[in-house]
Amino acid sequence: MESYLFNTVVPFAESNHTCNSCLGRQFGNLLTGLSNRERGLALKIFLTMEWEIKHRQVKDGINNISSLMSKDFIIGSKSIQRYFSEAEPSTLSCTICQDFLSVPVLESLAKEARDLVSEYEFSTFLVGSIFPPNIIDNEDIIRSTFNIEYGESIKSDFNRELGKILSTLLPEAEVDFKAPDIVFTFDLIHNEVDIKSNPLFILGRYKKLERGIPQSKWFCRKCRGVGCNHCNYTGKMYQESVEEYTTTPFFEAAKGISSKFHGSGREDIDARMLGTGRPFVIEISEPKIRNLDFGKIIKQISDTSNGKVEVTIDGLTNRSKVREIKTRSSRNAKAYRAIVTLEASLPDDQSFLEEISTELSGILIQQRTPHRVAHRRADKIRTRKISSFKIENVTKNEITVHIVCEGGLYVKELISGDQGRTQPSFSEKLGISAKVKELDVIEVFKSTDQI
Ligand SMILES: [Zn+2]
Ligand SMILES: [Zn+2]
Repeated sequence: MESYLFNTVVPFAESNHTCNSCLGRQFGNLLTGLSNRERGLALKIFLTMEWEIKHRQVKDGINNISSLMSKDFIIGSKSIQRYFSEAEPSTLSCTICQDFLSVPVLESLAKEARDLVSEYEFSTFLVGSIFPPNIIDNEDIIRSTFNIEYGESIKSDFNRELGKILSTLLPEAEVDFKAPDIVFTFDLIHNEVDIKSNPLFILGRYKKLERGIPQSKWFCRKCRGVGCNHCNYTGKMYQESVEEYTTTPFFEAAKGISSKFHGSGREDIDARMLGTGRPFVIEISEPKIRNLDFGKIIKQISDTSNGKVEVTIDGLTNRSKVREIKTRSSRNAKAYRAIVTLEASLPDDQSFLEEISTELSGILIQQRTPHRVAHRRADKIRTRKISSFKIENVTKNEITVHIVCEGGLYVKELISGDQGRTQPSFSEKLGISAKVKELDVIEVFKSTDQI
């Protein structure tokens, strides 16, 4: 019988002094359910038996028996010593992995990693490695020289075997290939172990119960955060923000190194955010603590902001949620309540208000970039839908309106008309100049369409 395995493994073992793992790995894609170390051991047992038969018959056999006397194959040394009592077990390193795959080396690396990670709280991890290029290149050359077709890469072998040992040292944690909490990188060039703690993403909603607070921290325009006369040496345009109130307690509890606040759209500084709140994701980089006491943090946010900002927490999420809330869901429907002041008094007969409210419901509004944001946004036409426009309360000079519209509609301009840049507008329909005195976002809906 023509045997690929025999024809390949004999010249390979004759030319290379390898550990069991490095021999087994050359056939690593054959027969699942074994480690490469077990494959290599099986092959060495077979080769040693083969050697013994040949030796008994013709005092000859496999030319170079070095691999059969490797450090991790004592059976081979003992068998050969039966015939050559002076033969000493080899102390040579494996010529392929330079012993990086030996159990003592793997164990000592795993212990080093476990000690480094002792301050971190995590339930999943992944092992990666950086190998000296000469080890990788050398194995590639050997593969083509010996026509090896079923081999596995040395890196995946190393990562998996180290992961197995780490799993026993870290019984609370398990390997996760998709979204591990911790990534260990074993740099075998510089003999270093690096730990990366993947970011923590917390999904929640905030309410802003007082006007005059921006969503994000604004650095001073003049000094850009350094501190100057203009900002009273705070580096900030506003002394408080939703971002700072919400992010700081998470950042401190998680013991991260930096944090980011991602809001699903934003309200104006002078608008309140009411109802069930606006969705946000807080991202904490390199967290040490992952099991956060949400109840405690929620209370801290309310306390430090004196009740101006309140949050609810949905739980942990991932990076894809950040993309979702920044793009798709920022166009989700919103409900607003606005108190509108009029430049002139309303006539006694106000029946036309009902018509205006019907005319402004279920239509598309065209808005050229408003004057007030033109300095930071490109001049474009934005089209957004109004689902409903209701008039709730009317006095001579003030009207309270309730609007449900697509996210991104400029509500203040819908009322004022922004000197014709928004069309149609409430002012235009009324025939009286109108502007928003107070604005509240009263709901952020979960889809783009909502009545
Ligand atoms: Zn090896
Ligand atoms: Zn400044």
